[in-house]
Amino acid sequence: MIKERLFRDFAEMARIPSPTYHEKEINAYLVERLKGLGARVEYDPEEGASLQSNAGNIYAYFPGDPVRKPILLSAHTDTVTPAGAFEAHLENGKITGDGRFVLGADDKAAIAVIFEVLRRVKEMKCSHPPIEIAFSVAEETGLEGAALMDLGRFRSGQALVLDMSGMDLIGYAAVGSLDIQLTFKGKAAHAGWAIDEGINSVMAAASFLQKIKTGTLDSETVLNIGRISGGEAVNIVPEETRLSAELRSFREEKMKKAVEELRTAAQKTEAEYPGLKIRFDVREKYKPYENRKEIPLIKALQKAGEKIGRPQKLVRCKGGSDANIFNNKGLESVVLSIGMTDVHSVREWILLDDMAKVVQLVLAFLKEWK
Ligand SMILES: [Zn+2]
Repeated sequence: MIKERLFRDFAEMARIPSPTYHEKEINAYLVERLKGLGARVEYDPEEGASLQSNAGNIYAYFPGDPVRKPILLSAHTDTVTPAGAFEAHLENGKITGDGRFVLGADDKAAIAVIFEVLRRVKEMKCSHPPIEIAFSVAEETGLEGAALMDLGRFRSGQALVLDMSGMDLIGYAAVGSLDIQLTFKGKAAHAGWAIDEGINSVMAAASFLQKIKTGTLDSETVLNIGRISGGEAVNIVPEETRLSAELRSFREEKMKKAVEELRTAAQKTEAEYPGLKIRFDVREKYKPYENRKEIPLIKALQKAGEKIGRPQKLVRCKGGSDANIFNNKGLESVVLSIGMTDVHSVREWILLDDMAKVVQLVLAFLKEWK
């Protein structure tokens, strides 16, 4: 029965596409569903307007034993693209899309799990903590919805963010990320009669790239040059070349150091090309976090895992999630794996069985969470 309901809920959400910034329809549906499950819901569809989203974050409250510590369960309602309405396919326990669109198990599988958890605690009629729910918009573009979220509306001091591939993993730490744009401004000139009057920004960018290290910088830090563009035509010395890079690290100080190294390489490049200017634009996407492994939240999850015969493994995540925002705003959070696989592609899939196992884990956790 659990699996049937999980699949029915998931299939229903699969019929409502929700690419980032277009969560209006799915959120209206989710608000009604949460109310139907007995939660009090606060929702302002205008909340995400500053993000260009046509929806807002969903805040929901599901009553429990008032003497017990509340817990926040969180997921995001947007998906990557290509997104479209489709009939989710279930065969031999495996849920797939129709090949044209992402399945959206990232993160609708988490929402289906949370719905089933709410139904189960109601059916079991035993003591459970008050459950608060945060469904964010615009997660995929850089945790924008979570950053906008008013966490003061929750009583919980801890959160479980259900949003990771794999099974039986607890993400207790995660990288932070910086977006770095470099603009090489040289000087245009005719590539025939005035070539020596020009400053070639493409060559300057190439020289810069030879001075820096990319890929794995150290055991906790990676740098990727993801895009390069510049120049106009073969008969013009290219005036402007742009490089886009992404830096990820588990340590903020290491990110600062890596940016400094880029700046030093830029200065050296400017010295090589008199008149060249290199502009740096560094934007923080999200900060890293690292919880202690002994916090009650992790202890309770591990105990729950043991009780259901599925030991949980502590991992550090190489990607961000809403937990980055929550932790850095003082809401202690970890990420839970939910079994989604090949996410961010049209090949995405998930096992219904794994979703049911996550339901069991969260239910066991709720028993431990005092
Ligand atoms: Zn996700």
